[in-house]
Amino acid sequence: MVETVNSPPSWRGKGWLNYMTNRRQTTMIRLGQLPIGSDAPISIQSMCNTHTTDKVYTLKQINDLVEAGCEVIRLAVPDLESAQVIQFYRKEIQIPIVADIHFDYKLAIESIKHGADGIRINPGNIGSDEKVKKIIEVAKEYNTVIRIGVNSGSVAKHILDKHGVTAQALVESALEHIRLFEDNDFTNIKLSAKASSVPMTIDAYRLLAKVCNYPFHIGVTEAGTEFSGTIKSSIGIGTLLAEGIGDTIRVSLTDDPVKEIKVAKEILKALDIRKGLEIISCPTCGRTNIPLIELAHEVEKKLKPFENLDLKVAVMGCEVNGPGEAREADYGIAGGKNEGLLFQKGKVIQKVKADELVQALYDMIVRDVL
Ligand code: SF4
Repeated sequence: MVETVNSPPSWRGKGWLNYMTNRRQTTMIRLGQLPIGSDAPISIQSMCNTHTTDKVYTLKQINDLVEAGCEVIRLAVPDLESAQVIQFYRKEIQIPIVADIHFDYKLAIESIKHGADGIRINPGNIGSDEKVKKIIEVAKEYNTVIRIGVNSGSVAKHILDKHGVTAQALVESALEHIRLFEDNDFTNIKLSAKASSVPMTIDAYRLLAKVCNYPFHIGVTEAGTEFSGTIKSSIGIGTLLAEGIGDTIRVSLTDDPVKEIKVAKEILKALDIRKGLEIISCPTCGRTNIPLIELAHEVEKKLKPFENLDLKVAVMGCEVNGPGEAREADYGIAGGKNEGLLFQKGKVIQKVKADELVQALYDMIVRDVL
């Protein structure tokens, strides 16, 4: 391929190009101002783990999440007061708000009336089709998006009797709910079909992708604590995205939700779906003669202000693979004996003492990008 100024360098962008050409065709919905589905960018969402009625703490968490890169926020609505307080958040924040509803259709209706841009329901636990229809009527009036959120823990008994807890059961459950919405002329829908099992989640979305064209909210539910949850979410969400499936993502961690946003961003960057700072670093080995692990962490910390810039920075331990990787990146360092080489756009710039490498790398990047 002949590279032009506008084409991505050959080592970058392939995943993104594959993704764009393979992306599943869906309808497009608007959650507030945010488009989801079709060719809209994959959005990142999270859910507050505060009590929704605690305005101070919840607003602080939303602002922290927005600063980290959250684009849609979901709030739990377990009672009437939580539904009513959505009005307050709607005035205070810019990103779309989704109200998370279980069991009580009246809470869904109140959330919509108090400014929720979307609601998430599992129609299976709302009680009856008549109650779901009441939600649909109000959602139509307010142009509110409804996520039909099917979960392996709450599939209807008649479906479980037929399929057990399987991907097929999740799909059949989702299709049953979709029919109810479509029969009532409501298509402002996005779907999720989550299990805590990664293979089951992947299978369910793959199957659903074959039989409907609504946008998907994807994620692995109850994925676990930071370490295992990050791995499960990355495999589940990453596999689907690599196949072109998924329109908005939620990483679910038993931890501070800000960490969910960080993981989500890394998943999108790893697949070249989103641009951003990418730091490549080697695992170190017996050839390493500089304190590379510390240096890599230092580089990561120091370059944090540039995390939204489309930069690739290599931090390599030695001259074997180091210079090669460092040359392919926009910037890089490759270690030698108590010193290292500094690279810029494929060229060796200078030799620097090991303890001055990070600062020299930083100064070089600042000179170029600011
Ligand atoms: Fe070892 Fe060099 Fe490879 Fe790093 S780049 S793992 S130091 S051979």
